[in-house]
Amino acid sequence: AYTSKHRATWNEFQARVSATGSFTMISESKPRVYLVGTGGSISFVGRTRTDYTNYSYDGNHLTIDELLGRVPEVLEFADVRTEQFLNLGSTDVTPEHWLGLAKRINQIFRDDPAVTGVAVTHGTATLEETAYFLNLTVKDSRPVVVTGAMRPPTGLGTDSDVNLIDSIRVAAAPQSAGRGVLTVLNNQIQAAREVTKTNSYRLETFQAADFGFLGYADSDEEVVFYRRTDRAHTVDSEFDAEGLHQLPRVDIAPAYAGADGLVVKALAQADANGLVAAGLGSGSSPPPFMAALKEASDAGLPVVIATSTGSGRVMQTRRFTEEGYIVADNLTPKKARILLMLALTKTKDKDEIQRMMLTY
Ligand code: ASP
Repeated sequence: AYTSKHRATWNEFQARVSATGSFTMISESKPRVYLVGTGGSISFVGRTRTDYTNYSYDGNHLTIDELLGRVPEVLEFADVRTEQFLNLGSTDVTPEHWLGLAKRINQIFRDDPAVTGVAVTHGTATLEETAYFLNLTVKDSRPVVVTGAMRPPTGLGTDSDVNLIDSIRVAAAPQSAGRGVLTVLNNQIQAAREVTKTNSYRLETFQAADFGFLGYADSDEEVVFYRRTDRAHTVDSEFDAEGLHQLPRVDIAPAYAGADGLVVKALAQADANGLVAAGLGSGSSPPPFMAALKEASDAGLPVVIATSTGSGRVMQTRRFTEEGYIVADNLTPKKARILLMLALTKTKDKDEIQRMMLTY
């Protein structure tokens, strides 16, 4: 119910907006959260309230201040500082943006010891990739929480507002620290390493396959965790975005029945610095595809074998070992690609890269 407490918050918010001309909400005694906007459906403006499918074509976005202005309830629990880092659909987000975002978040933590956490709004299409990159390059144990929405803020039944509130609440919660980069959508807190978008339109699209979520950001306003992940991240990561302006090029070659070696050969001949094979089942692929992988690997290209099944490990089988492949463990092909890109900033040694695949 819309209580008098909420009405008071709203009035306070309106008064601040007219006094400062800004939507940034200053509530000094509360945990300080930086809210960094990058775009995505959480910010897109549709033409009608039933536009769930075409809104992204016009390229109209709310700013991060406008998004925050829709949820004055956050004044009750956080002192929010906004920042518009990008305002794009996440299909436009590139590895160069990842580097810039990681550097900016590290700078926020360096410059402001009083900040409790950072929340990032992002399109859902590549949200899990950006989150995993940050998981490996943010050098602070304070929470970084990535959120998005499946329905734009102009749509009926939008999840934009609640996901924004929840992500700020999780970033403001001391119990969120030291758990690596988190994602929060649909009231569920997930680990960046594990989470994947599993459905094109449903609100419960973000899932962590075998593992399940870490906790809830729930309607009783509590942030509750039930488990933590075990793989190294953030302060324990050996990777560093500082000083990097570009990441080594790594591509993914998908396998399917009848796939020949065409894509693998093309990538090996282009300027790829590494290759991830999105293999079938436990990682193997059709013979001509495997032959092309072996040729690439023999020529010195680091080749990582992942599975396209969506969950489960790829193990070092006798064949994979003999042919010199690195295995992705249970990282999805997209996440194995990110880790290989970062690994290649440190080494080309296959044993070292294999160690990294099993560490993060
Ligand atoms: N096209 C959107 C994007 O920016 C989809 C979304 O945000 O859900 O990824």
